[in-house]
Amino acid sequence: MQFIESRGNDGKRPSSVSFSSAILEPMASFGGIYVPENLPDLGSDFLANHVDANYKQLAKDILNAFAIDIEADVIDAALDRYDEFDDPTNPVPVVKVKDQLYVSELWHGATRAFKDMALQPFGVVLSAIAQQRDEKYLILTATSGDTGPAALETFKNKDNVQVACLYPDGGTSDVQRLQMVTEDAENLKVIGIHGNFDDAQKALKSLLSSDTFKAKLQENKIHLSAANSVNFGRIIFQLIYHIHSYLELVCQGEIALGEKIYLDVPSGNFGNALGGFYAAQMGLPIEKILIASNQNNILTELINTGKYDLRSSELIATTSPAMDILISSNVERILYALFGSERTKELLSQLEFEKFYELTADELAQLKKYFVADFCTDEEGKDYIKKAFAAGYLMDPHTATCFKAFDTVREQPLKTIAYSTAEWTKFSPTIANALTGEQGAKDIDALQAIAREAKIKIPESIQSLFDKKVVQDSVVDKENIETEILAFLIKN
Ligand SMILES: *Cc1c(COP(=O)(O)O)cnc(C)c1O
Repeated sequence: MQFIESRGNDGKRPSSVSFSSAILEPMASFGGIYVPENLPDLGSDFLANHVDANYKQLAKDILNAFAIDIEADVIDAALDRYDEFDDPTNPVPVVKVKDQLYVSELWHGATRAFKDMALQPFGVVLSAIAQQRDEKYLILTATSGDTGPAALETFKNKDNVQVACLYPDGGTSDVQRLQMVTEDAENLKVIGIHGNFDDAQKALKSLLSSDTFKAKLQENKIHLSAANSVNFGRIIFQLIYHIHSYLELVCQGEIALGEKIYLDVPSGNFGNALGGFYAAQMGLPIEKILIASNQNNILTELINTGKYDLRSSELIATTSPAMDILISSNVERILYALFGSERTKELLSQLEFEKFYELTADELAQLKKYFVADFCTDEEGKDYIKKAFAAGYLMDPHTATCFKAFDTVREQPLKTIAYSTAEWTKFSPTIANALTGEQGAKDIDALQAIAREAKIKIPESIQSLFDKKVVQDSVVDKENIETEILAFLIKN
């Protein structure tokens, strides 16, 4: 399968590229990104034949349907990363929490958040291609706290790859920060910046498109790539768990094959929701996707009104920081899929220059065929955490936003899979506050409080972070990011 560009082709780049090229160089003409030329149709036989399939077999067969230019043994090695999840036979458990509501838990991997689902296999694929091409890559990543740890973990000590990871200093939880700043490997550089996540993401985008930065890398024979969810290499691994979660409900006897359900997704950069959208396009029986946001409700507004308006929006720091995003990168792929490249280019250049775009009534109607949306405030989220806990389910504040969307935006009484995107350990102060009322606890105290309340243990991988040495201590102003990265590259 070939990949084409979301904003059309500038006549200088190839008009289509292979999967491996799209993931090594994720930036396309006119500031666009790569999208699949077409999506494979899985057909109902495929679903019927995979009801009992284990996760890795299902993943392999879906990847095969995409006919990507990655060798079978590399794909196998990539999928073997799921063996490191809590239960290798079922890396993504789907549990019933109440009538019609099921939770698919995407956080059973190394860094306890759903970013592991895509980044663990993606790291194996990317470094394998870099080695085969005998090329060296700098992987840039910007994180609000979950992508960073997962990217560092997957690329640690891999050949032909160096990683520079930008995070907003003070914008992550202690656990997230410790997961990054204690990562000790020669090929990894972690940089805190004075600013918020959008600042980190902007800095990343400007480096990716900077010719002078690229020229400096070229002097050192280093190519540039990104591990953020603009990279299709991540999205492809994110369709799989939607299909798995559906089949898991069939397997558990909770739904019949072919029965329509809702997917309910806590959304930021829209990678997770996009995976669900693609899965539906490929034949998964999805009624609609419920998009849950926090108070940074730009996605809710887009889906309800057709307006994407940054003019009056300021980023608000919430208790679900992985969703504190105003520029949601993967919406671009939805615009492309529904309205084509010319319109996508037009809308996104309006967003860039006027900080605003508005869909036509007809376009909005099309968008609403696939999505409905609501947002959840921190107070409401806290309440959902408390109520779910009282009913026997412990969840994090991102997952909580889905519980509200389940209550408010379903148009029909259909069964719903909500996605849980982080373990309780990653956002413990907020959860402890919801459960016990205590305010402002440090992560370590909050972890202990929750463990006590829920009568569970703090996982060893989290507990041990507090005794590890901090080895990554750079915190810089935005202007100095480039210099900091170049110094790291030259040193190595
Ligand atoms: C990244 C993340 C999200 C948002 O996912 P997108 O794919 O960016 O929409 C939600 N919750 C958690 C915990 C995350 O780490």
